[in-house]
Amino acid sequence: MTQSQTAPKLPLHMRALLAAFSPLSRLLHRLGYRPLAERCSWCRKDLPAGAAFYIEGRRVCADCAERGRRRMLRAAWAYVILSILLMAFAGVGAVLTFRRGDPDAWIALPILVASGLFPLGCLWFVLRAMKASNRRADQTEQVVALFSAMESLDAHAPRHPNKE
Ligand SMILES: [Zn+2]
Repeated sequence: MTQSQTAPKLPLHMRALLAAFSPLSRLLHRLGYRPLAERCSWCRKDLPAGAAFYIEGRRVCADCAERGRRRMLRAAWAYVILSILLMAFAGVGAVLTFRRGDPDAWIALPILVASGLFPLGCLWFVLRAMKASNRRADQTEQVVALFSAMESLDAHAPRHPNKE
């Protein structure tokens, strides 16, 4: 066994960690659960730690990230155009109400503006949520790197010998 030569070099807590997690990870793999898989979750391409992008909390490759980015940009523009259209309708509505000399026109105006700004508010909220998930992605990436290091230690033949 070649593994018995490398195993005693590991510190005790690392060995305990491996002992605890390798059967669990093997079971989860068999069940098809791969949250830390080194693959793009859209096109299934190989994806080493550090080369991943994150879209909606999923690890994707550069090509898929570009595709996703363009798709999101289109959606964002649709939102902006919808917002502009709503604002235009609100503006026309406000002008017509004032022309009629309606005394309640001042109440209608903020409602019209608010409904026009609603899609932009949604967009702002989505962008904020995406930034927050990008920050979490950084931590996930570190865990993926650690996980793959553990897997390579656990493997029958270590593919990436550590130089630590
Ligand atoms: Zn991909």
